Amino acid sequence: MSNEICLAIECTAHTLGIGMVKDTKKGIEILSNEKDMYVSEKGGMIPNELREHHRKVRDSVYEGSLKAAGIKEKDISLIAFSQGPGMAPALLAGLEFAKSLSVKLNKPLIGVNHLAAHLEIGRQITKTKDPIYVFVSGANTQIIAHEGGRFRVFGETMDIGMGNALDKFGRLAGLGFPAGPKIEELAKNGKYIELPYVVKGMDVGFSGIATKAEQLLKKGAKVEDLCFSLQETCFAMVAEVTERALAHCGKEEVILIGGVAANKRFCEMLDIMCKSRGCRFFPVPLQYCGDNGAMIAMLGLMQYRYSINTLNAKNADINPNWRIDDMEVPWIKG
Ligand code: AMP
Ligand code: MG
Repeated sequence: MSNEICLAIECTAHTLGIGMVKDTKKGIEILSNEKDMYVSEKGGMIPNELREHHRKVRDSVYEGSLKAAGIKEKDISLIAFSQGPGMAPALLAGLEFAKSLSVKLNKPLIGVNHLAAHLEIGRQITKTKDPIYVFVSGANTQIIAHEGGRFRVFGETMDIGMGNALDKFGRLAGLGFPAGPKIEELAKNGKYIELPYVVKGMDVGFSGIATKAEQLLKKGAKVEDLCFSLQETCFAMVAEVTERALAHCGKEEVILIGGVAANKRFCEMLDIMCKSRGCRFFPVPLQYCGDNGAMIAMLGLMQYRYSINTLNAKNADINPNWRIDDMEVPWIKG
């Protein structure tokens, strides 16, 4: 361990994040975590606008990240970037910036799996040993555990991620993007309306629920009631599958990561389920549960220690469909 500093770029969807971490004797220290998120009044995420947004803000986020860390460019030891999975126009904006920094500073370039980065920062920050990872973001919903040297997906969505389902409904209800926080607020004054509950074995599905909620909205159901019912239904489905994963894998800790982890009702439901089984629930602090650069830097540094996926800046490319179980994570014992 030699006090390496990793600067990393997160750029898989709506957020251009740049974070820095340092290897220390006590573990990995987060030095900075700056970001700028694409938002839109209507229309959700428009792919080409994402690329333009990320190109426009990257220099100021980069400067902000160096400043927040109190670090000069010359102190950076390596560059990491989110190589996938994600939306190609966003990933390309991150790749081009990462390559240019790697060449300019003459430092190694590490390609990081965005999903594994969410899990790794969750594990390191909560100091859990061997949890069930409940990963619920815009595009993803997966129940994951570490088995046999890799992250294994035990259950996942059969269609869209839970966040996308909430955003899809929010678009129709005129809540803007991202809709999750507004749905959480409105749900506080809602009553339950039955929506489809879609669990098949260890897998879940959200697109039918979003469609049904949209149909009910068009027929005049109250938006507050639909927000409440969407939350209760989607969260209960994930809690059910998580409970089964705990039982199957014999694990005793649950961590919740991804942007939807910001939702207090979701955390409460998982906490109740964990307590009833004698397990412990660990929500990941808000600034690290959504997309961010610090998580890419943290995993980039771990990969650097183990020489995993160092790339040549000349021909490095994105990997939009990179699955999490294709990643080696030899540093986790379990
Ligand atoms: P990520 O893709 O991990 O950055 O997460 C973004 C997703 O999280 C979007 O779909 C948001 O609508 C959703 N989200 C953010 N905050 C909340 C919240 N408080 N409740 C529910 N969903 C949320
Ligand atoms: Mg994400």
